Amino acid sequence: MAYETVIGLEVHAQLNTKSKIFCASSAAFGGGPNEHTCTVDLGLPGVLPVLNRQVIEYTLRLGLAVGAEIAPVCRFARKHYFYPDLPKGYQISQYEEPICSGGSVHFVTREGRDVNVNLTRIHMEEDAGKLIHGDELGDPNHSYSDLNRAGVPLLEIVSEPELRNPEDAESYMRKLRTLVRYLGISDGNMQEGSLRCDANISLRPEDSEKFGEKVEIKNMNSFRNLRRALEFEEKRQREILDAGGVIHQETRLWDESAGVTRGMRSKEYAHDYRYFPDPDLVPLTVDAEWLDEVRAQMPELPDAKSKRFQDDYGLPRYDAEVLTSEKELAAYFDRVVAATGKEQAKAASNWVMGDVLRLLNEKKIAIEECPVSPERLAEMLSLIDDGTISGKIAKTVFDQVAESGKSPEAIVEEKGLRQITDTSAIESVVEDVIASNPEEVEAYRGGKTKLMGFFVGQVMKATGGKANPKALQEILGEKLGG
Ligand code: ADP
Ligand code: MG
Repeated sequence: MAYETVIGLEVHAQLNTKSKIFCASSAAFGGGPNEHTCTVDLGLPGVLPVLNRQVIEYTLRLGLAVGAEIAPVCRFARKHYFYPDLPKGYQISQYEEPICSGGSVHFVTREGRDVNVNLTRIHMEEDAGKLIHGDELGDPNHSYSDLNRAGVPLLEIVSEPELRNPEDAESYMRKLRTLVRYLGISDGNMQEGSLRCDANISLRPEDSEKFGEKVEIKNMNSFRNLRRALEFEEKRQREILDAGGVIHQETRLWDESAGVTRGMRSKEYAHDYRYFPDPDLVPLTVDAEWLDEVRAQMPELPDAKSKRFQDDYGLPRYDAEVLTSEKELAAYFDRVVAATGKEQAKAASNWVMGDVLRLLNEKKIAIEECPVSPERLAEMLSLIDDGTISGKIAKTVFDQVAESGKSPEAIVEEKGLRQITDTSAIESVVEDVIASNPEEVEAYRGGKTKLMGFFVGQVMKATGGKANPKALQEILGEKLGG
């Protein structure tokens, strides 16, 4: 039977504030066990939480970026469960009255399809601590808790069940990362766990209106693993349904090395958590003035930038999407174009998406550390544009700029890479090549025109690749044709 896949994601983004959400302990990653703790995050009796203003501002930024409705008044709630990573016995979260409702995230697929995913809500909550099991320490009878992460601020971003395949789920997650990084509210690092997600997935017969029973998958620490886990689960559910079986709601864990999901526990329901409003925290009020202040500080967002790159720079959509996927990459590109002028935007885009990204990949560095500055790249583009060097020689120049940090001009002079545009100089090389390859010349004149490539190659070899390709083609055609 044909099924439609239905996916909804619950994403947790760790906010990069200095201190935790309800106390002054450091929210920084790392630190010795329990070094970043105080009486509040340790859950000692009698202490009171105090909400961190920066957390609210960061949340408002994301809320505005996705066009969510921002509640003028919202509340915190206690979510109860018993586990040694949670010293109070409850997590402070939001339940019935979250700060943001609605809004949407837009992305463009590889094939250029627009997808808009509606959000259910975004709410603030605190993270739990971490357990360290003694078996890794040669102490299999004990487990230890490290509460450095307890109380670190998180945003939970819940999507409607509107994603229809694993690849879109990955793109959605990537776009969320792009957004939080643009907004400067989270580093969005999946490996370090600052961006995590629980993926809900179900299948339904293609003609059915009603959703199937869903399974929730946890423990995916990369975009690739998110997609793989969903693909596995899609297939697993299809096989069960095809065999006449039923899917039971449950929580499953992704096992990366085995490439499978495994049942972990049956699903828990909201009533299991005994939610109620936290009496220690007053309701949070966000007035229009505060919202305006945050709005005024918003950076240009990825979709607006992509549109500007297309409308203003005349770039194809694909280029614009790649170049705006990271704020710093887009800033680099803006600087190249500022130096070359918009007429060179497409050429600049080819270089940035090609050689610049390749260089970053090879050196495993970020664009901010790129050894070829935007201005250097712009200089090189103008050397190509005015015919000083060919596009091919430019590849060599680029690598040398990267290596030496010298200017493209200096490298061209130093290494004698200036393109030969002087036709008489090219002519004399062409004549030499013709004279020393009589058999090929005869074959060419006899109709084997494919040999043109051979002659071009010979001249390029003799000139160290510096002959102006266009002039060379013309001269060769003329001399050989006769
Ligand atoms: P629960 O009550 O189990 O917490 P919610 O309705 O709150 O479920 O949804 C949690 C997440 O699961 C949301 O991201 C939502 O989009 C997604 N979801 C809900 N129903 C389904 C379904 N049938 N198939 C896939 N995902 C679903
Ligand atoms: Mg729910």
